[in-house]
Amino acid sequence: MPVEKKLRRSHQRDQIYEYLCQSVEHPSAEMVYNDLRPEIPNLSLGTVYRNLKLLEELGKVRRVISYQGSERYDAICGDHVHFLCGCCGRLRDVKNVSTEAIRSAVLLEEGCRITKLDLTITGICPDCTG
Ligand SMILES: [Zn+2]
Ligand SMILES: [Zn+2]
Repeated sequence: MPVEKKLRRSHQRDQIYEYLCQSVEHPSAEMVYNDLRPEIPNLSLGTVYRNLKLLEELGKVRRVISYQGSERYDAICGDHVHFLCGCCGRLRDVKNVSTEAIRSAVLLEEGCRITKLDLTITGICPDCTG
């Protein structure tokens, strides 16, 4: 795709990126689309997919996991740990974990080194425990 075409909808891309920065939910393309559609009337799900992919290529967002066939996105690209509720799909950051401690606790084969720490813990959230 030519660059001009990729960049034409940059305003929508900015809005998608801002939405991801403000969200703690690690939304899927569908979640972004449903929440932004009232604000961006001409938004299509395809546009959201394309912009998320582009933002990922630009290194501004990252894909965390795929849950029930939907990729979940995060605007925080540095080391951190996630907690996924396997029941409702809620995906949140775990704040009280030292990623440095995890890095140093991991025993890798000689010569291997960690470049990115991307850890998702699966469990049940309080809403689903009841
Ligand atoms: Zn849950
Ligand atoms: Zn996160």
